[in-house]
Amino acid sequence: MVRTLDDTLEPIFQDVLHRNPGEAEFHQAVREVLESLGPVLVKHPEFAEHKIIQRICEPERQIIFRVPWQDDKGETHINRAFRVQFNSALGPYKGGMRFHPSVYLGIVKFLGFEQVFKNALTGLPIGGGKGGSDFNPKGRSDAEVMRFCQSLMTEMYRHLGEYTDVPAGDIGVGQREVGYLFGQYKRMTNRYESGVFTGKGLDWGGSRARKEATGFGAVYFVREMLRARNMDLEGKTCVVSGAGDVAIHAIEKLQALGARVIACSDSGGMIVDEHGLELDRIRRIKEVERRRIHVYAEEQSRARYIKGGTVWTVPCEVALPCATQNELNGEDARRLVENGCIAVAEGANMPTTPEGIRLFRDAGIAYGPGKAANAGGVATSALEMQQNASRDSWTFQYTEQRLEEIICNIHRNCHDTAVEFGAPGDYVTGANIAGFLKVGHAMVALGLI
Ligand code: GLU
Repeated sequence: MVRTLDDTLEPIFQDVLHRNPGEAEFHQAVREVLESLGPVLVKHPEFAEHKIIQRICEPERQIIFRVPWQDDKGETHINRAFRVQFNSALGPYKGGMRFHPSVYLGIVKFLGFEQVFKNALTGLPIGGGKGGSDFNPKGRSDAEVMRFCQSLMTEMYRHLGEYTDVPAGDIGVGQREVGYLFGQYKRMTNRYESGVFTGKGLDWGGSRARKEATGFGAVYFVREMLRARNMDLEGKTCVVSGAGDVAIHAIEKLQALGARVIACSDSGGMIVDEHGLELDRIRRIKEVERRRIHVYAEEQSRARYIKGGTVWTVPCEVALPCATQNELNGEDARRLVENGCIAVAEGANMPTTPEGIRLFRDAGIAYGPGKAANAGGVATSALEMQQNASRDSWTFQYTEQRLEEIICNIHRNCHDTAVEFGAPGDYVTGANIAGFLKVGHAMVALGLI
């Protein structure tokens, strides 16, 4: 059953639909938050009085620009890039850049909107923003990627700054791209402003544990959800979608905590290895050789590769979607529940469709939405900003310990907020309300700006 919005929220949502036509992912992300906010408006009439919900749904600033570049053969290409500076009530805009052919304004706005609440949940002083381009880095040489990044930054630099807007990576933007982008920013501004970008290399201002943080954080979150139900991860059978940074580090931490991870995937298909995935093999195939995941099954005969398959069909107790938006639909959710899944934590942004979320909630399984469960990445970005501001560099152990504390706090906050608002065990309600309250109070305090 589709949840209805109350009489105050429905016209606001209709207005969002009307003002942002054709942006399905943005509509989906807004609706999911608004569905949680009814009880907040009853308790806090000041939010309606100050039109906080209408304001929070409208980005503070949206930048769209042309990125011309030449490939190695001298052919000219034109891409479109975006930076959506969504909300700066809590700190400078903060959020990654995504390079993927599917990127358009609706994707960047959904990601920026999610980022506002996620960043608020970290408890650190960061606002929310997101950017990206429809550029596809797959199959491009380093030189082509560099020329693209330099061209993009030649426009974007003027909108950034360590106190203004601090980008990072996301899908298609890793340390290589961050390096080219930061290098061009430095050149354009004549400033070595480390704190303007996060996800940097360790030799040039990056933080230890940043690369691991999103995956590790999602695992800490699922561990906390299980603990709240007097269970633990040890011996649990898990599946993880994706085979990028988030998935690989989620698998690493799951294994370290004694879980058995039997399946992962890439956009071509999935592998199942009932003995438990060999992480070193995945790392070599994906990170060193930059090949596809089917190679795993070619090398390891006991493993199976299912072309076009998704990991949600594999019976498991814990599932971690770590690939992309809307990768887990109603049918997948039904299958997971039927197969005995007890916990789902999202390493990706909005990977579960609204129908999938409904099914998880109705089944009463522990479901951690992305804005809470994957906040470890951006939280560690904020720790990178702290290290840059103090010209310091922390140990891996200390940084990871801070990350773990932050995730435990987010879990507690979401858990307790859900109880306070009459929805115990519902982390969607808890995350949306806790994130909203933090940003909403700050917006009221800062006046009509
Ligand atoms: N792209 C990541 C996210 O979705 C990280 C953003 C950041 O570190 O700024 O949260």
